[in-house]
Amino acid sequence: MTNAALPSDGTVVVVGASLAGWRAVETLRREGFHGGITLVGEELHLPYDRPPLSKQVLAGKWPPEKAVLADRKRTAELQVHEVLGHRAVGLDAEQRQVEIDDGTILRGDAVVLATGARPRQLPGTEGFGQSDGLFTLRTLDDSLALRAAVTRVASCRVVVIGAGFIGAEVASTCAELGCRVTVVEAMQVPLSNVLGPMIGAHCGSLYGAHGIDLRTGSGVADVRRAAGPAPGLAVELESGDVLEADVVVVGIGVAPAVDWLEGSGLKLENGLVCDDRLFAADGIVAAGDMARWTWRHDGAEEQIRIEHWQVAAEAGVAAARSALAGRSDAPPFTPIPYFWSDQFGIRFQVLGNPGGRDEVQLVEGSLQEGKFVALFGRAGRLRAVMAIGQPRHLMGFRPLLEAGSSWADALAHPLT
Ligand code: FAD
Ligand code: NAP
Repeated sequence: MTNAALPSDGTVVVVGASLAGWRAVETLRREGFHGGITLVGEELHLPYDRPPLSKQVLAGKWPPEKAVLADRKRTAELQVHEVLGHRAVGLDAEQRQVEIDDGTILRGDAVVLATGARPRQLPGTEGFGQSDGLFTLRTLDDSLALRAAVTRVASCRVVVIGAGFIGAEVASTCAELGCRVTVVEAMQVPLSNVLGPMIGAHCGSLYGAHGIDLRTGSGVADVRRAAGPAPGLAVELESGDVLEADVVVVGIGVAPAVDWLEGSGLKLENGLVCDDRLFAADGIVAAGDMARWTWRHDGAEEQIRIEHWQVAAEAGVAAARSALAGRSDAPPFTPIPYFWSDQFGIRFQVLGNPGGRDEVQLVEGSLQEGKFVALFGRAGRLRAVMAIGQPRHLMGFRPLLEAGSSWADALAHPLT
């Protein structure tokens, strides 16, 4: 196979056994592919969903089984050859051969890459781990270990570093669990890089209202063991303040998990660079948090990489369809990005791709009410819509984003 369609009795190797990889597997079978599918995953778990890890699973409201995307019955039904607990360590893109950490070579007529992203480590914390009270949150095992740690002592002292999505959701859940939570954020206004200063400030105001001490504009100078006989960590801020903690959660962003592709000949630049059909090379497609693809919309194109659930799920489907159709016939992947976050008892939802420098206008509700619809505009066009407590109004703007609406038309658009 070069850029031709995948033979329906060929072989596909899917690397990354999570949301995007699993959606690709399901799509291959749904679309009639009856050849061999091998699913390679570094974790021992079958595919599961990550959003509940900072919410229901961490809160203890869901047993881990509820987050499962595919159980063994389903993988057997779809005749998937599972290679779990093994890391892919190399790819020969020309031959479409994946090397696994035990030396096995898997060859596919097509290869689907979906290895996601990994938490960034805070410099200087390399010597600490979960047993010292230092956590990042990406996997089910991380979530269960974090839950055990924050519920081990009453009123556990939790310091969260980073007030992005992980930071906000973990802080919110830990506060609900009765922990004493402090959040440290490098920016002056949380989430302002994504949602702008006005809405970022609104999100920031939710921390105090839920008993959380939010320290913004504050970098971390050092993390060390607390002095004295009791276990714990001390987080020293650049201001000189020292926060003592039983548990520290680092949520300072992720890096696409593409290190294993170095030397493969594929282009790596803030993720794996793909064309507008998710091809990184002939017969090699990618999806999810690792993929940086050419997004054509509104008569323009840009290279984007999105780290949210809906796009990863849709990309998994699209990547499988691209592999089946072949590079010449595959349609472009042109989603309208969507994400949500549950924090402090509210759900906010975003359609489109907002940026912190966009013009922002509230077209319904108000920040004071805590229910609103906000439009994000850039270069005379509507770029994104965000809503809290207004899901129907939010979706009413979807056709405008699809059509590439002007900013003026979006502002004049009647609410549905
Ligand atoms: P991942 O889910 O990261 O999966 C990649 C898989 O590949 C992993 O299982 C990994 O172990 C495996 N892997 C990595 N390298 C290798 C290798 N070399 N060999 C074999 N396997 C490998 N998004 C939202 O829109 N809303 C939310 O509320 C939300 N909440 C979230 C909460 C948490 C705690 C987290 C961590 C993420 C959340 N997200 C949310 C983001 C969303 O879960 C991700 O965008 C999504 O999981 C991306 O899917 P993926 O399949 O691309 O990658
Ligand atoms: P994130 O959303 O990128 O936020 C990281 C935050 O940490 C940013 O505000 C960042 O500020 C700040 N920061 C960086 N370095 C810091 C430092 N040294 N000290 C203090 N603050 C620092 O990443 P995340 O919250 O870690 O989430 C990880 C991934 O999970 C992301 O892909 C995210 O999309 C995903 N996720 C999504 C959801 C959701 O969609 N609801 C929920 C949970 C997780 P700067 O930008 O200035 O560096």
